[in-house]
Amino acid sequence: MPELPEVEIVRRSLLKELVGKKILSVEVFRELSIGYPTPERFRKELKGQTFRDISRRGKYLLFHLKERNKFLIVHLRMSGRLLLVDKKHDFDKRSKFVRVNFMLNSGEQLIFEDMRVFGRLWAVSSKITLAEAIPSFASLGIEPLNELNGKQLQTLFHKKRQSIKTALLDQRLLTGIGNIYADEILFQAGIHPLTPAGKINKKQAKNLAKVIPNTLNKAIKLGGSSIKDFVDAKGVNGNYQHSAFVYGRTGRKCRLCKSPIERIKLAGRSTHFCLICQK
Ligand SMILES: [Zn+2]
Repeated sequence: MPELPEVEIVRRSLLKELVGKKILSVEVFRELSIGYPTPERFRKELKGQTFRDISRRGKYLLFHLKERNKFLIVHLRMSGRLLLVDKKHDFDKRSKFVRVNFMLNSGEQLIFEDMRVFGRLWAVSSKITLAEAIPSFASLGIEPLNELNGKQLQTLFHKKRQSIKTALLDQRLLTGIGNIYADEILFQAGIHPLTPAGKINKKQAKNLAKVIPNTLNKAIKLGGSSIKDFVDAKGVNGNYQHSAFVYGRTGRKCRLCKSPIERIKLAGRSTHFCLICQK
């Protein structure tokens, strides 16, 4: 599943290519992929709009359009992909996964592919419709790429009885971290994933405040993780998975202490860690 680094990579690669280009028409091949408004209105709202900017909030991509307060919002969820392709793009191989297609005035197409169909697109035209269209948007937590500090994290996790791993995945606390980077962050911070979040001490919180943005920024630098087929807007694979410390390395030697990486199930998710390095 794309997490913050992968979404940020898609944002950066599209930003360079998309700004200033105009949507000539929109094709919706799967109506349920449109979260808001109706597919018919979605097409009408976006037709003729020009891309002005792209920002990100957690794992949501916000495409700012020329018309004030108008946005196309995209969440890739499990398997969504946004690809910018030229007109002659060969759809044969993957065409059955293309859910929405934006024809651009540059002759290119912005296509939204989604094999697992959990991804969503919304067209909103004000803060009011944003809250109406995506109620959970308002409760998104802290952006982990912004400057964090230990005190702030200790306050955030205060009295939380859930494990620190589960707390890192809670989008209302910190937004954008998923299963891969939660495991990587906890390894780097030397914290056992089952540690109750409320028990994180001052030193650990201070450490996490550094490790969280560092881990995510390193993943962005490496083009993200292509464990589940992730590619950027140009179809390029990421490389983080080759330098992961624990994620996807069950039974292999810890890169620091050489003992085998453990895997447990935690709240239904695989959790990878080193028993020696993460006390
Ligand atoms: Zn180790």
